[in-house]
Amino acid sequence: MSNQTSYIGRFAPSPTGPLHAGSLVAAMASYLDAKANHGRWLLRMEDVDEARTAAGAAESILADLSTLGMHWDGEVVFQSQRTALYEAAFDRLGRLAYPCGCTRREIVDSRICVAADGAAVYPGTCRSGLPVGKPARAYRLRVPDPGHVDELIIFDDRWLGRVQQHLAIEVGDFVLKRADGFWAYQLAVVVDDADQGVTHVVRGADLLDSTARQIYLQHQLKLPTPHYLHVPVITNADGEKLSKQNGAQAIDLKQPLHALSKAAWFLGLDIGQVDSVAAFWPLATTAWANLDLSRHG
Ligand code: GLU
Repeated sequence: MSNQTSYIGRFAPSPTGPLHAGSLVAAMASYLDAKANHGRWLLRMEDVDEARTAAGAAESILADLSTLGMHWDGEVVFQSQRTALYEAAFDRLGRLAYPCGCTRREIVDSRICVAADGAAVYPGTCRSGLPVGKPARAYRLRVPDPGHVDELIIFDDRWLGRVQQHLAIEVGDFVLKRADGFWAYQLAVVVDDADQGVTHVVRGADLLDSTARQIYLQHQLKLPTPHYLHVPVITNADGEKLSKQNGAQAIDLKQPLHALSKAAWFLGLDIGQVDSVAAFWPLATTAWANLDLSRHG
């Protein structure tokens, strides 16, 4: 990367529980990429979905990162304190955003298509106005019709190579403000990445499917598009992403080096023997810098 001083990366955990082996991989990849590029590494707590936020989880993630020797730059940002920014961005979208009265069940029953992430593609029921007698539940962003030039989003992922998604066919008009009143992840993450000047997003491949939506939203809000790198995610025996929801164990912080070594191994980093957390990071940074990312594509 040529312009090394302008790199701003971030780790953006949802504080639904303590750090686990899966979230450590995303944290480590984003941290090493920032360090290898002499950049800043910001920390953002994605607690916009207050219903899923667990008491004490943000504090424990911060403590865990410190124990693991991962030090963030600047103040930690909490999405729950930034709703005015999301509201302002939403307002800027004007008529591209529209109220939707459909329930989840109604969308699934319409069976137009199933998106890559298993969700139903929105059939566009409320696109031209709420059906009579239906109250607004959520707000959606209008995406271009199938065949429209802006409907196909293409980007080059630094790990996976060229990725493309047809928004109209594979996603449909997507939610910006949820039926429970919370701002949707897609809107919050786009607003925050731009507001924090993030130039490089490094995160788990479970979010790959969201990236085209985020790029489209950046275009509509006239915000820059960062570089993206999606690392593989750890799965359980059923092939599901390891997550707090399916019982991922918190990292054993009595053995921080063991947790770090496992995450590094998962990322394909060859570090050799190290005897301290302090010794681990410079070696891991060099190993990351030497990774041939193009071989994954
Ligand atoms: N908060 C998301 C998560 O924990 C990550 C969002 C992102 O990196 O864009 O899965």
